[in-house]
Parts: sequence; C-alpha cells; structure tokens
Amino acid sequence: MNSALPTQPLFRRFLVYLKEFKLAFFMAIIGMIGYAAIDSWIFSQLQPIIDNSLGKQNYETLRTAAYFVVPIFIARGLFNFLGTYILSWIGSNIVMKMRQQLFEKYMYLPVSFHDNNASGGLISKVIYDTEQVSGAGSKALLTLIREGAFVIGLLAVMFYYSWQLSLVFILIGPVVAIIVSIVSKRFRIVSKSIQQTMGNLTSSVEQVIKGHKVVLMFGGQQQEKSRFRERNNHNRQQNMKLVVARVLSVSSIQVLASVALAVVLYISSLPSMVEGLTPGIFTTVVVCMTMLLKPLKQLTTVNSEFQKGMAACASVFEVLDREIEIDNGQERINRLKGKIEFDNVTFYYPETETPALKDVSFSVGEGQTYALVGRSGSGKSTISSLLTRFYNIQQGQIRLDDIPIENIKLTDLRKQFALVSQHVTLFNDTIFNNIAYASEQVDEARVLEAAKIAHVQEFVNQLPEGFNTMVGENGLKLSGGQRQRIAIARAILLDAPILILDEATSALDTESERLIQDALEKLQQDRTSIVVAHRLSTIENADQIMVIEQGQIIEKGDHQTLLAQQGAYSQLHSLQFSEGNK
Ligand code: ADP
Repeated sequence: MNSALPTQPLFRRFLVYLKEFKLAFFMAIIGMIGYAAIDSWIFSQLQPIIDNSLGKQNYETLRTAAYFVVPIFIARGLFNFLGTYILSWIGSNIVMKMRQQLFEKYMYLPVSFHDNNASGGLISKVIYDTEQVSGAGSKALLTLIREGAFVIGLLAVMFYYSWQLSLVFILIGPVVAIIVSIVSKRFRIVSKSIQQTMGNLTSSVEQVIKGHKVVLMFGGQQQEKSRFRERNNHNRQQNMKLVVARVLSVSSIQVLASVALAVVLYISSLPSMVEGLTPGIFTTVVVCMTMLLKPLKQLTTVNSEFQKGMAACASVFEVLDREIEIDNGQERINRLKGKIEFDNVTFYYPETETPALKDVSFSVGEGQTYALVGRSGSGKSTISSLLTRFYNIQQGQIRLDDIPIENIKLTDLRKQFALVSQHVTLFNDTIFNNIAYASEQVDEARVLEAAKIAHVQEFVNQLPEGFNTMVGENGLKLSGGQRQRIAIARAILLDAPILILDEATSALDTESERLIQDALEKLQQDRTSIVVAHRLSTIENADQIMVIEQGQIIEKGDHQTLLAQQGAYSQLHSLQFSEGNK
C-alpha cells in the first residue's frame, strides 16, 4: 500500500510541515550555505598562496592569511551552529507534531481500525517512524543543502582555474546520478520493510509482556523465543541489506571519482597542458577533486536517510489519512430517558461474510432490565457494541428515545451509557482517580459515596494508602473482584441513563459476586439496563430475557414464561443448574 505511493507527493506533504518553520528554515539555509561558501573560498586561496606567495617568494599573502584564518574559522563555526541547530530544532518540532497527530488520531479512529491493527505496530509508528521522519527532515536536508553547496563551490573553484581539467567531472556526473537513483529505489523498499519488522518486533515484545502469565503457565517460552528470534533476525537482515546497498553505492561512486582523478593526472601530463598549468592551479584542482569525494559520498548516503524518512512519512500519513469515526449526528442530547429499540437490525463485522446479527428487533422500555443470554459467539456483545456505535449497522435502525442513533452526536450518545464489562480497564493511577475517570466534575464526596455503594470502601480501607493507592498497570495490583467494583463505582458516579453489563460477574468467587451483585442492583435502579449474562442466576429478575443464537433472537420472555416454554432457555437453565449441583 505504501510502496505504491510515489516520493514526490509524500515529500510535498512533508514540506507542509516545514512551511510552519519557513523563517527558521531560511536562517538554517543561510547557515549551511555560508558554511559551504567559506570552505570553498578557503580552497580557492590555495592557488594565490602557492603561485604568488611561495612561488615568487612574496610572503605578504601568507601574513595576511595568518590574520584572517582565526576569524574565518569563527565565522565558519557560527554558520555551522546556525545551520545544524536550527535544522535539528525544526526536525524535533516536526517529530513532536507528528507524534501528537498520530496519538490524537488513534483516539478518534473507529473500533474496526484497532481490531485490524496490532497495537505494537501502532506504538512503533508513534515512537520509531516519526523519528525516522526527522532523519529526513534534518539530516537529509543538512547534507543536501550544505554538501550540495560545497560541491557547487568546489566545482566553481575548479572551473575558474582550469575548465579543461574540470570537464572530466561533468562527464562522470550523469553516471553518478544513475547509480544514485538505482540505489535510492532499493533504499525505499528496504526501509519500508525495516519499519514493518520494527512493528512486528514491538508486537512480539508487547504480547509477551502482556501475556506473561499465559506464557509461564503454558510453557510457551520456547515458542515465543523462537518466534522472537525469527523476527529479530529478519529485522537484522533487513538492516544489513540497507548497509550493503549503502556501502556498494559509496564504493562505486568513489571508484568513479578515482577514474576521473586518474584522467586528470594523465591530461595534466600532456605537453599541451603542462605549459598553462602552474603548481598552484594543479594543486587546487587536484585538492578540490579529492575534497569533492566526501560531500559526494555524503550526498548519496543522505539519500538513504531521505528515503527512510519518506517511507516513514508514508507509514505515518497512511494512518493520518484514515477516516475517523463518522459523526454526522446533529442532535445534541443532554440526558435520555432510556428507551431502546432495535428495528430489524442486520450487522456484518467489516470484511466478514456472515452476519453477526440477523434481523434483530426488540424494544426496551425506560428503566427496564433486559438480559441477553446464549452461547459464546452468538452475538450478545455485538448488540452492546452497536448501541454505543462502536460499529455502524448495515440494515435496520437502532433508536434511543425514538431518535435514530446515527442522528445523535457521538460524544453525547456515549455519555448516555455506563459500561461495566468483564474486561475492566483501569489506568495506572490512584483508585480515586480511576473512579473519577471520565466524570466531568470531580466532587470528592460523590466519589466516596459511589465507592461506598459499590463496596469499594471495604477493601480500600484496608490499604495503607487508601484511595491514593496506585492500582498498577491495568489494575494488576488488585483482585478481579476489586477491579470490578471500581468499575461499578465509576459507572455509579457517571450516572448515565443506560447501563450495559457485559458478563460483569463472570469468573468471580461467591463472596465477591454477592457484593458485586448487590452493587449492581443498586446501580440498576431507575436505569435501563442491558445485561449480557453468563450465569442465569443473576438475571432471573430481568423484565425480559432474550436468548440469542447465531445472531438471532430465538426466544424472548421473562424467566417464568421461558422456563414454562421448555425451549432453549430452559435447557440452558437446567444445564447450569445441574452443573451448579455437582
Ligand atoms: P458473544 O458476546 O455472544 O460471545 P460476540 O457478539 O462477541 O458474541 O460475537 C458474535 C460473532 O461476531 C462471533 O462469531 C464473533 O466471531 C464475531 N465477532 C466478534 N467481534 C468481531 C470483530 N471485531 N470482527 C469480526 N468478527 C467479530
């Protein structure tokens, strides 16, 4: 996808970032060109010193040079500082800006984007790829402009003193250009694959760190080790390819230059040339030619940096160009009453063939509790994801208080829901801040009140630092039940009109479950609730229970009615009941 993007539009787009720093960039160019001009000028002074001063035993020029040499080098240093510092400053600003843009973009991209992109790769884009762009921004431009100007300066000096000898360089110029263009194509391909391998590496590390316990329990170390070794090695190989391309191009260009030098030496030895050639001119031309090698070499290696940067730009822009969640909803909503309607809803997950929900219709009245039961994979969580518009449906309509949800502004829509799921997400912060997360005004008394209702207070009181205890990454320092209770307290504080409980009580011991069930019941009061339930015992009091199978509602009714029907629900029920008695 990225490799299809030509460099030119990429570079033009990169220039947009540079535009903001126009003045600074102009100063940097002055610095770089000034530096190159001084260097070229120094070499142009070889001829007068050799021919006029040394050759004619007139040492006045030498003395003058002695006075000037230090000030000239001071000026050279200043120009160098100007060029290098300002360019790095611009580069660092561009990295910062791109990082911020990516970070912000990630938050606004639809859930389907995150479903399809490994988080390691996304992290690597923010950390690594943006840094590569700065490589293009500062290093490439620095070399391109400064060394480019130096090459031009040296050529000017050479032509000024002897155009015949200098012509040789013009002849090999096009050959150099051809080599550079072949090599640069190769650089881009390899650089892109390095980025991908960096993304893969990050993913591997991330998975093992996140899934550390699973790896330990299943003895997955060998497998992970060899997988990582493979990826690590692949990354190294790609880097080596870049090195090979770079070294080969540098060497071949140097050999070409040496051919030119050999020709110059030969021509100089010809009788017709020898007459017009003074020692000063000869030395100046040969020295300039030798001096040309270094900037020429740098100009070709800078291309690798530049191509790396462009490949990184492509990777960054590819995400920045992704469409964010569609939010055409005009309707601003403060607080819904909580009526939910699904009207013949059919939904396919992106890029899937079979619908996750097929023609689903139901309606939940204000303040009612509806329970969804069914085998795993039947589509229960999908229903809750659609309510919050994590995905958009293809057919039918979902309405809240009779308003189609796509007409409601997304931020307003999501404010209407409090979600407590089996996967509690806590931030690496204090318990207090985790409860208060997402609440607009943090009122300490209300946070404590919510904590009390959710039975958070019980265990917090036993912690030495109380509510100021840091929970660790994703609440690792707490038990499952404790995390769950914090999530419930968060939902209580949020006080949203609709509550979604997604298997909130699964995998908890009876003691925690009793407390949590109690907390949940308090939370459900006066609220519309959609409860995705694994344990049927927790939903017996629901107003309606819907049994979902393969994306369709196959039974609907309250507990007693469904039991009496002797259908799927009663089967599930007797299954769990007998399991419970074992
Ligand atoms: P449940 O909550 O009942 O266990 P889900 O609603 O999570 O089931 O899943 C319903 C179906 O949709 C499953 O077949 C599952 O494989 C599929 N599914 C769930 N999430 C995604 C996704 N992000 N992308 C593609 N398919 C998905």
